[in-house]
Amino acid sequence: MNTLQERIDQVESRIQNAVRRSGRARDEITLVAVTKKFPAAVICEAYSLGLRAFGENYVQEFAEKRPALSGLAEAQFHLIGHLQSNKARQATELFQTMETVDSEKLARRLNESEKRLEVMIEVKLSPEGTKAGADPEELPALIDAIRACPNLRLTGLMTMPPWNPDPETTRPFFRRLNELARIHQLPKLSMGMSHDLEAAIEEGATHIRVGTALFGPRPKPSADE
Ligand SMILES: *Cc1c(COP(=O)(O)O)cnc(C)c1O
Repeated sequence: MNTLQERIDQVESRIQNAVRRSGRARDEITLVAVTKKFPAAVICEAYSLGLRAFGENYVQEFAEKRPALSGLAEAQFHLIGHLQSNKARQATELFQTMETVDSEKLARRLNESEKRLEVMIEVKLSPEGTKAGADPEELPALIDAIRACPNLRLTGLMTMPPWNPDPETTRPFFRRLNELARIHQLPKLSMGMSHDLEAAIEEGATHIRVGTALFGPRPKPSADE
């Protein structure tokens, strides 16, 4: 089971099983293929096999790949890595969806570009792990601030729990994000990765971000880079 087509089929059947178990519909879930560290040719191949949503973590890395992707008319590019305010303008030229908005300052910067953008708020649900993400208590003010930005359309919440190989350990974070989305009446939930996408779908994910299960281990930079 080694070609990209076979790995896409495997991920698709995992999604279908989770969808069936949770009584949901397949079209409620968008597979965001995470292509960080892979060359543009891999994105083109995935597109030719039917994938349409792609997630990238680094503005500079994606800026270098983007010219090779201009023919992918229906591709949707999501920024899923932390965004610094000073890269916000460049990011608006590269991505349609910003999944990692976590401050009012960043929202204002994105709004200034005058380009219509979909945004999600990255929520930090644990003191462990990454520093990125808004605290749940900050959500009401941040949501108000984003909704006051005419160029931003706030659609949902995103989270990245501390990494753990056991999906039952990350499940409570998915459940908590779902609760927060309901409280704040946000329809979309970006959560779940290669190893825990089933738990995420069972807990209401609308976007799963899958890298390794589709593309294999990410290439490591060589020692002299
Ligand atoms: C790399 C990454 C993923 C994909 O992780 P895999 O385990 O390779 O599926 C998902 N979300 C974010 C934010 C990432 O940085």
